[in-house]
Amino acid sequence: MQPLLVIKDERFAHHLEQIFHLENPKRLQAILSVLEEPSLAGKWTEVAPRLASPQELAMVHTPDYIERVARTSGMPLFAFDLDTQTTEKSYDVARLAVGSVFSLLDEIWKGRADRGFVPLRPPGHHAEPDRAMGFCLFNNIALGARYLKECHSVERVMIVDIDAHHGNGTQTAFYDTDAVLFVSMHGFPAFPGTGSLGEVGRKKGEGFTINIPLGKGHGDMDFARIIHFLLNPVAREYQPEIILVSCGFDLYMHDRLGAMQVSPEGYALLTRLLLETAENVCNGRIVFIMEGGYSLKGIRECGLRVLQELCNVPTLRRDKTDKLKLHGVPRFSALKKVIGIQKKYWKILR
Ligand SMILES: [Zn+2]
Repeated sequence: MQPLLVIKDERFAHHLEQIFHLENPKRLQAILSVLEEPSLAGKWTEVAPRLASPQELAMVHTPDYIERVARTSGMPLFAFDLDTQTTEKSYDVARLAVGSVFSLLDEIWKGRADRGFVPLRPPGHHAEPDRAMGFCLFNNIALGARYLKECHSVERVMIVDIDAHHGNGTQTAFYDTDAVLFVSMHGFPAFPGTGSLGEVGRKKGEGFTINIPLGKGHGDMDFARIIHFLLNPVAREYQPEIILVSCGFDLYMHDRLGAMQVSPEGYALLTRLLLETAENVCNGRIVFIMEGGYSLKGIRECGLRVLQELCNVPTLRRDKTDKLKLHGVPRFSALKKVIGIQKKYWKILR
């Protein structure tokens, strides 16, 4: 059995064709080209995607909003706001994005593999239940988590958002519930303006939203420490049945929007640590779903390192992971503050 399942579909390029946009079809071509790298040959298996139905989209979105997106079908250009536009085929492409997450999760639940990678457009984590924003139409990862609950009776899903921006839409979708543990690390203050330390969930969901707001310029080891000292222990206490990763490539050091300093090797390290967490808590089940990333070079180079780790092609120097584990305490203040707040909810952090 190959370790990794992948969706590979050229139709994701049919959204925002022939208009100038940062979130453009070249981003898809950049990540699909990585799949052809010789080091990955024979190490992943393709899964055929389907389109999500309007009824399925309603697991997260309001019928009125779904209808508003549907009505853009066939229109050469429609703007939901200054950032978020559609072209003729965008509605179907966005349904394909959601459906591809469903198809891949079905295969994982059949036991065909433990790991998945879904390179899709448009991204999803900014999409609110009733509103398009931040280049996102439907919330792919939130719908994936709901689908697991509705169709595969999964009780606990952990979503880890490593995009440089806060996953506001995903947070909204699960703010009141303990069925999804949402963890986001992101620049703050920055777009979309949410994701402060005090946003921890509400009612039954209190303690099941973890925000790690960060100033500009954090690099490989800072993000690795967040996973090692916070995310990993919390995952052990929560015991999710799967980890879903909102995988933005805009932490990359030369990204046009992200303002962070993560190298391609840093992406390999983050992936390795997330894989280790998944091995420890949920039999290795983990799916990476693409979000932002606006440097084509960054998507190619970071995407390659993520995929190599997912395919068990070792590229990391041993001392990089050892160095992290030798540092006994979380060193930087942003992480200390988050632990200070979250230890009220998580015994393991006390
Ligand atoms: Zn982003």
